Amino acid sequence: MISFKKKKVLVFDLDGTLVELAADWHHIKKALSDRYFKIYGEKCEFKHISGCLDYVVEKKDERELNNFFKVLEDLEMRNINDNKEIDESLYFINNLKVFGVPKETKLAIFSLNTRKVIIASLKMAKIYDNFDYIVGREDIRKWKPNPDGLLKIMEYFGVDNEDMIYFGDLLKDIKTGNNAGVESYLIEEIINMVKKKRQEIDMS
Ligand SMILES: [Mg+2]
Repeated sequence: MISFKKKKVLVFDLDGTLVELAADWHHIKKALSDRYFKIYGEKCEFKHISGCLDYVVEKKDERELNNFFKVLEDLEMRNINDNKEIDESLYFINNLKVFGVPKETKLAIFSLNTRKVIIASLKMAKIYDNFDYIVGREDIRKWKPNPDGLLKIMEYFGVDNEDMIYFGDLLKDIKTGNNAGVESYLIEEIINMVKKKRQEIDMS
């Protein structure tokens, strides 16, 4: 059982954690790779979107990096209406008190999706107002499992690593938490907690 008693900030990943995005990741990777070739005249070999953006960051060309972010944002936004909500996660967000989360505890997002997609997704799921701070792709220059996003959130709220929990859907998210010294869990933990609680409520 996760204890929320002393936690001041709960941080969530977005995709696969609160909602499932329907973006065409294969197409997005190709678009980024094509742009890289067009701009720099060299091929970039990468497995993940972050890998391509790493190359752009290395070029120390902020203006072009922003162009890449824009390409990413446009393509991520394209299928936004096909987002699938992760019902249990949203239940948790909307019923924090039921799970012993103190009422002063703040919620934040650390996701590698672009800010526009994060905000639109949270609004569509009607949980945007529950969040106090968002760190998205454009807000950092080192991606997960680098802990910079979590450190940024700690700094924003003026809290220590032991005051936060990070929830994500990938082992990479857990690693990110570890790298920041922040307790972290797979979202399954929340999903199972919510399922149990709902059963209890149904039986009472
Ligand atoms: Mg995710």
